[in-house]
Amino acid sequence: MARPLIAHIDLDALRHNYRLAQELAPGSRSVAVLKADAYGHGAVACAKALEDLVPAFAVAAIEEAVTLRDAGIATPIVLLEGIFSADELPQVDALGLSMTLHSDWQLEAVLAFTPRRPIPTWLKVDSGMHRLGYSPAAAEVAWQRLAAQPRCVTDLHLMSHFATADLADIGYFSRQHRLVMALAERLGAPTCLANSPAVLAHPEAHGDYNRPGVMLYGSDPLELSCEASRRLHPVMSLTSEIIAVRELSPGEPVGYGGRFTTAGPSRIGVVACGYGDGYDRHAVDGTPVLVDGKPSVIAGKVSMDMMTVDLTDLPEAGIGSEVVLWGVSRHGALLSVDDVARYCDTISYTLLTGVLPRVPRRYVGGSASSPVD
Ligand SMILES: *Cc1c(COP(=O)(O)O)cnc(C)c1O
Repeated sequence: MARPLIAHIDLDALRHNYRLAQELAPGSRSVAVLKADAYGHGAVACAKALEDLVPAFAVAAIEEAVTLRDAGIATPIVLLEGIFSADELPQVDALGLSMTLHSDWQLEAVLAFTPRRPIPTWLKVDSGMHRLGYSPAAAEVAWQRLAAQPRCVTDLHLMSHFATADLADIGYFSRQHRLVMALAERLGAPTCLANSPAVLAHPEAHGDYNRPGVMLYGSDPLELSCEASRRLHPVMSLTSEIIAVRELSPGEPVGYGGRFTTAGPSRIGVVACGYGDGYDRHAVDGTPVLVDGKPSVIAGKVSMDMMTVDLTDLPEAGIGSEVVLWGVSRHGALLSVDDVARYCDTISYTLLTGVLPRVPRRYVGGSASSPVD
């Protein structure tokens, strides 16, 4: 036997979600975002499961691209933040990578470099996120300079990132979209625009390429979920077991600091999962879990290797009962990572990327022949 905490990764669900992105964005090509080890799901396994479907993968940095190339992934890969220093360019060239270009120092480095093959490049314009990218006026100048150097760069696209595509209020999103489309029209530029919330909720803003990330992993980023986002399938199920049970009288504190105190006679189950596995210590009392497929809640602060849950209303639950921290139970019950995130005052992205290496990943499905729906 081993510690029962496992992150089950359903690669058929990943393929289903990718196909949903394709279906929602029929006139656009979906680049699957695999940064941060595929949001904690394992970039190599996810890339192998998607490589027959995608035009390209996207990662944050060259190190992540090298990991994929070393694993034999030959699909185009885009560096979402481009190069971090000019000395990366020979490797970008050798590995056949694509890149974004957001700053003049990158532009000068690329124009001073002679690649074996021109580098496919997305020029990033800041349409309102105010993080990376050229101002619209500076983007025009940069675009013209790049377009004049076909031996350095090729397949130029105008790229931008939305700050509020997840919000129900579309005001700022629409402003960003109008701004980038006006610029694209002036330049005659193809575009790369939508992140997951825009793929799901803003068909007018997909661009020639879109860049879904979190939706591929089954999380719904929208403030108000929509018909499409309800069709996502969870990819990661983080599951463990009850390893001990305590019968407590009323008024007994549980765990560090005694944050939770029993109201009446209580059964408290101890679960093998804690913040040392990446589970969020901000989880409040009342954070949902599933025990043998039935709803239960966290009672007491999360500790490093364990947490405590309330089994008072689940008399059949005991040592060895399955506990789902998020995902799907073996009985088919679902606990969305988005729901758990709300109780941790965070978003699914931090919970998924936060699952630490000590948690084994166990993969099912994922080949072109395995069932999809
Ligand atoms: C991470 C990232 C995405 C994907 O965002 P999601 O919200 O996960 O879909 C898209 N574009 C860029 C530039 C990113 O950094």
